[in-house]
Amino acid sequence: MTSAGRFAPSPSGELHVGNLRTAILAWLFARSSGRNFLLRVEDLDRARSGAEAEQLRDLAAIGATWDGDVVRQTARGALYTAAISRLQAAGLTYECFCTRREIQEAPSAPHAPQGAYPGTCRNLDPAELEFKRSTRPAAVRLRAGVAEYRVHDVLHGAYAGVVDDFVLRRNDGVTAYNLAVVVDDAEQGIDQVVRGDDLLPSTPRQAYLASLLNIPAPEYAHVPLVVNSDGVRLAKRDGAVTLRDLALAGIPSDAVRDRLLASLGLPAGRLERALDAFDPTALPREPWVWTGMGSPGST
Ligand code: GLU
Repeated sequence: MTSAGRFAPSPSGELHVGNLRTAILAWLFARSSGRNFLLRVEDLDRARSGAEAEQLRDLAAIGATWDGDVVRQTARGALYTAAISRLQAAGLTYECFCTRREIQEAPSAPHAPQGAYPGTCRNLDPAELEFKRSTRPAAVRLRAGVAEYRVHDVLHGAYAGVVDDFVLRRNDGVTAYNLAVVVDDAEQGIDQVVRGDDLLPSTPRQAYLASLLNIPAPEYAHVPLVVNSDGVRLAKRDGAVTLRDLALAGIPSDAVRDRLLASLGLPAGRLERALDAFDPTALPREPWVWTGMGSPGST
């Protein structure tokens, strides 16, 4: 299988310039290293009808070409079930009946980092298990053997982060993101993961899970986010931030692409033209502040 990079948006709405900048970076990382570039729609949760088509249209508009068919997570349930079954067979999972509130209110285990699952359901005896099974459906959690795991990131270097008994399958039957992403990346031959650095804290969990499934960890590059003028992660409420909004203001998608490339110190024009100048080690490490775009001629 040809090695590949990818972009994996959740189809919850239109992409904004922050998402598009990350997509450009993922494309540049993949293409500049001779990899394929794949698109995966992460539609297990938060999918809005019509959003996928809008996202693909916008990625095409900025020139982020992809290889093969777009993959959708909702069509891949059998792969996730098989991976969870392997973990179950190895004694690496347990059923959890906790509500979110119970988790918040539970005293945290000694030395456990903030936000880590307190382990309430880790060692239920058979009678407790039987009783709890009669009360509500169970989520499936990983029985983690470590509290921390270290990954290497192209931009962040060595990064160690929390691994707790995180959820693999929610109690409504939906596969959890951390499991799906690991299974999909491996199954699709993805060995390079470029995404926003808001996901860096989840990465040790994913890399640890990959190790349990005998999957080599991919190369990671967590890229800085785009923020608004208050330094807060860009969102739709920050004004004209989608290609559609900007087009309505008279700004064509090529001009938006060029602005995003300029923010990365790269030349304007088709993405292919930026490949020669692209140097992952020289990328900005700070969030980029989006200050909007004036109409053509005023920028
Ligand atoms: N679907 C996730 C998001 O849109 C990205 C997941 C990933 O790149 O691993 O935030």
